[in-house]
Amino acid sequence: MPTTYGQHASDDALERYLLGESDEPEVAAVEEHLLVCRTCQTRLEETEAYITAIRSAAKKLRAEPPTVGEELRSRFSRLMAMPTPVWATVAAAALVICAVALAPSLLTRPSATPAFAVTLETPAGWTAKLKTACPRTRR
Ligand SMILES: [Zn+2]
Repeated sequence: MPTTYGQHASDDALERYLLGESDEPEVAAVEEHLLVCRTCQTRLEETEAYITAIRSAAKKLRAEPPTVGEELRSRFSRLMAMPTPVWATVAAAALVICAVALAPSLLTRPSATPAFAVTLETPAGWTAKLKTACPRTRR
């Protein structure tokens, strides 16, 4: 946005100017205004400091090794980027393994056999049998 002598430069115009993205008429208008406007000179300095800080932070981030969370996110992204049949096959195989492992415990009913049985016999020939079944607990 070109500025005239009496108008302040917009934030976008100052940013484009600092980033070298202004066209020639905008550069001329911004520079002409900056010559006479202390407010915009201050805003230009603040914008420049902001851009410098952002660039420094971005450079620092690129230099640091990825954190565990970033590494996991990256691996998950790579997994999701695989063609569908690959991870679908892996998921299906995991599902089959889980089903095979869990099927016996899910399909069998609680055992009817007692947990223990006691038979008492007296010398006179009396017999008493005691059977105790433990209730099956489900999770
Ligand atoms: Zn100004």
